[in-house]
Amino acid sequence: MDIMKMGKNPNYLGSWDLEELPNREAVLTIEKIVDEEVVTNGKTENCTVSHWTDKNFKPMILNPTNKKTLAKLYKTKESENLKGKSVVIGISQIKAFGAIHDALRIRPRIPQAQNAASPKCVSCGKNVEAYGNMSAETVAAYNQKKYGKCLCSRCATALKQGGELK
Ligand SMILES: [Zn+2]
Repeated sequence: MDIMKMGKNPNYLGSWDLEELPNREAVLTIEKIVDEEVVTNGKTENCTVSHWTDKNFKPMILNPTNKKTLAKLYKTKESENLKGKSVVIGISQIKAFGAIHDALRIRPRIPQAQNAASPKCVSCGKNVEAYGNMSAETVAAYNQKKYGKCLCSRCATALKQGGELK
């Protein structure tokens, strides 16, 4: 047995679970956040645990630091509102008890939707792309509202300038 993993709770996500991943980071979507009893080394503790939609990853115990990051990231402390939200989990080195430890940290950035289908422009057929500080989804929704159809920013601009849509 790997002595570095001994004494840790194997039922929950640990920094060692990310070792093999690029940048030692994982993008995970919250299925639910619940309080549950966690037994570590025979000691029972009530912990807040985030379960992921991706069952290849073990649930993660949320410490106060990660809770704060999460609340800031999505501007809510409501576990119900955090369902379905995605986070980037990475490893940070923290100093505790005079030594450096690897700790799981929720990164303070919202991951780009990876698998969500990009909205397509009904005019040119290309994917609607992000524009300025608007995400692709926001651009599509904005143009849908303004022009009544899903348009990319290029076609929307052309339309606004009186051009013809193909
Ligand atoms: Zn277009």
